[in-house]
Amino acid sequence: MQKRHPVYLEGEIIEIGAVKFSPGGEMIDTLKLFIAPKYYKKMNWNVARLTGITESDIRGGLPFLTAVDRFMEWSGAETIFLTWSNNDLRLMRQNLRVYGRDPKEYFEHIFDLQQMFDNQILHEGRSCGLTEALQMVGEEGMEAHDALHDAVNTFTVCKHLDLIKGMKEYHNSIDAFDDGEPLKAFSRVYASMFDVLHDKSLLVMACPSCGKRVQFERWASQGKGKKISVGSCACGKEYFVRMRTANGASGDKRVFWSVFPGNDELRAYYLDRLEKQMERFEKRQTRIREKDAALECADDATVETE
Ligand SMILES: [Zn+2]
Repeated sequence: MQKRHPVYLEGEIIEIGAVKFSPGGEMIDTLKLFIAPKYYKKMNWNVARLTGITESDIRGGLPFLTAVDRFMEWSGAETIFLTWSNNDLRLMRQNLRVYGRDPKEYFEHIFDLQQMFDNQILHEGRSCGLTEALQMVGEEGMEAHDALHDAVNTFTVCKHLDLIKGMKEYHNSIDAFDDGEPLKAFSRVYASMFDVLHDKSLLVMACPSCGKRVQFERWASQGKGKKISVGSCACGKEYFVRMRTANGASGDKRVFWSVFPGNDELRAYYLDRLEKQMERFEKRQTRIREKDAALECADDATVETE
């Protein structure tokens, strides 16, 4: 019988890829491990297509905890972990928790390079994919969607960043999102993203503490496929909700919705994301207006030179 998967487990880690480098920026070693899944034995078609990993690859993989222990041993003590976006870390923490390990005992020093990249190079207040980042710094990357290739590509982007400066000015600590097990969670399938965004019920819930109706604020984008919001109950409890959407096989969307205890830091983070979203929207509007104006000017110019 298939084990029922915990509802807050967005996916199982089936591959670990890592590059180890010295403080001087010299590559020391690489690691690639396959992991045999325990809950989602049938591979997602999309993952199979993107990664080229076959079901037999993962069947021959290590048990999750063995792989994690090997990875930590390989990493060594006093290691600083660098990751592209906080997605992998979030998933790693969910997986550790499902296997009864305390995620707090892992990855004590970890930084999100995607955020650092935005702070130092992109300056657009958005998260950008690894492929786009490589292009921006003029580097040829290895083919994406292989955990080790991704790690090598991340290392390549690293060389263009001031890591020391980045680590010093790091604000939105990834730890703000290690919120433990959610208070409530579900996953649901929708026909399209339009349907997801128009489902008002995703922004309402019964307070887990007192049962009263909690209305969340409008969604703020937290990067690719992720939306966040905050809400407070009349009883005084604060909540933070996160929704991640994944593509299904036939264009449908699977939504992973989870709510966590809120706090001031998370509310501030939400407001910051919302503001950046507005800035991006205004920038886009300005660009469209400027384009229209330029077209009009061009028309005028033709008239005048005649
Ligand atoms: Zn309440």
